[in-house]
Parts: sequence; C-alpha cells; structure tokens
Amino acid sequence: VSTLVGDLLERREILPEQLYAVGVGVPAPVEFATGLISAPPMSDWETYPIQDFMSRAFPVAVVVVDNDANIMAFGELRAAVEDVNNFIFIKIGTGIGAGIICDGKVYRGNSGFAGEVGHICVDPNGPVCPRCGNAGCLEAMAAGPAIARRAVEAAQTGQSPILASQMEARGGVLTAEDVGAAAATGDRVSIRIIRDSGRMIGEALAGMVNFFNPGLILISGGVSNIGPQLLSSIRQAVLRRSHPRSTENLRIEYSRLGPEAGVMGAISLALERVFVTDDTRI
Ligand SMILES: [Zn+2]
Repeated sequence: VSTLVGDLLERREILPEQLYAVGVGVPAPVEFATGLISAPPMSDWETYPIQDFMSRAFPVAVVVVDNDANIMAFGELRAAVEDVNNFIFIKIGTGIGAGIICDGKVYRGNSGFAGEVGHICVDPNGPVCPRCGNAGCLEAMAAGPAIARRAVEAAQTGQSPILASQMEARGGVLTAEDVGAAAATGDRVSIRIIRDSGRMIGEALAGMVNFFNPGLILISGGVSNIGPQLLSSIRQAVLRRSHPRSTENLRIEYSRLGPEAGVMGAISLALERVFVTDDTRI
C-alpha cells in the first residue's frame, strides 16, 4: 500500500490536498472504530494502523477502512439491492467471510468483527485452521485451499486422471479453478469436491438463516464461479437445513455487482462518512 500510494503521489496522479474521501477494504477483520487490522498473530499486518497511515498520506481526506466483505455488502446495498433490507453477502475465496446488512445498515457487531463466518466449526475433527488455530473451521474445510488440497489427493491416489494430468502440467500444484475446469468436462471427482464444499457452506448458512432470517444471500469471491454445482449445493443445503418459513421468500444468488461490489462499497462508505457525521448511521 505504501509503495502504491507513494508512487501515485510522486507521479502527481493523486493530489493529497484535493482528495475528499478514501475508502479502503481489506481482506481481514477490521476494528471499525479504530481502523486497525486484526490479522493473525505474527503476520506483518497484525494490528496494522491502516486508517492512520492513509490519513497521514492524505491529510485533508476523510478515510474509512473496513473489512472487504462488509464493503462489498454495502456496495450491493447502495448500487444493486433495492428490494431487501436484510441480507448476507458471502465471499468465498482463499477464506470465507460475510458482510451482514441488517435493517438497511452494515451490521458490524459489538467491536466490528461480525461476519467472521469462515471460523464457524463444521467438523470438530477437521483440519486445524491456519488463521485461528481451531479445528474444522468452515474456511479450512470448504474454501479455495481446501478444494485444491482435496483435488491434489484425488490426483495422487488415481481417483481422477483429469486432475492428475492437470497437476502434472502445472508442476505438481492444483487450484480451485483447476477443479472447476475439470468439473466442467464432467469429471465426477471434481464435481463431488465442489458439491461437498457447497454443502458445508450451505449448512453453515442455514444456521445463519435460522438465526437472522435474511431475504437474500449473495454469493461472491474467486471460488464462487468454479461451477454451477457450488451454488446449487449451497441452495440445497440451506433449504434442507433451515426452518421452512424462513426460506419462503429467501433468494440465494450470485453477487449482482461482481468485481465492482468492492469499489462501489468503498466509494459509498467513504462518501457517507463525509456527509454523515453520526457513525451509527452506516
Ligand atoms: Zn478458523
């Protein structure tokens, strides 16, 4: 960030004295009141004061920093979702996180960490989560790296010749996108891996549906588009595991803004901070 901002300032592509509002989304929990990143202990970003850094770089700008899923949910709310005031935006990539819109506002919880749904336990005997140290977290079981790990196992044990040849072509590694590509050719093992991932995400979402009764769930992130089986498995699991009355008017869809959600959310959040002094409004 510092290199990027420094370069832009040096080339005078941005002028600090003219900037009005800066919105930043980061892929980690953020303590919203202070703008501190809550990264895993010992990482370079642990409690990094990104809001202070941006405020020093742009002294006259209003700076607002939030978790990326919150920012994207807010972008959808402001630019694409007109008919629902209570919804969940879930981002599935290397991790899994959610932005919660409650009564037309971002719900951040008591200290800003609401929506850390990737750390809901789906299997107490599951692998240790590298981010929080607990066993069987949803993101350790179902996000991109878990999908890739299962694909490597399937390739190494001879269950999927397609994955094995892809892995050989890639020098011994596989990604979630490779699993999606193999599934698109009809590879049963890859389809099963994607379906298992969708089922686990859907079961966790069913708990959220029972708790929160949203009208819409938006699915986003780099792994969300690896195949139609992911969304269909999420839908099946949510419908099967939620209270029937809470799913009567529930829609589960892909993100409406796609990659634009983060940009729209950051702009909207920063501008609202400029015009609304009461933080509780946004
Ligand atoms: Zn975890």
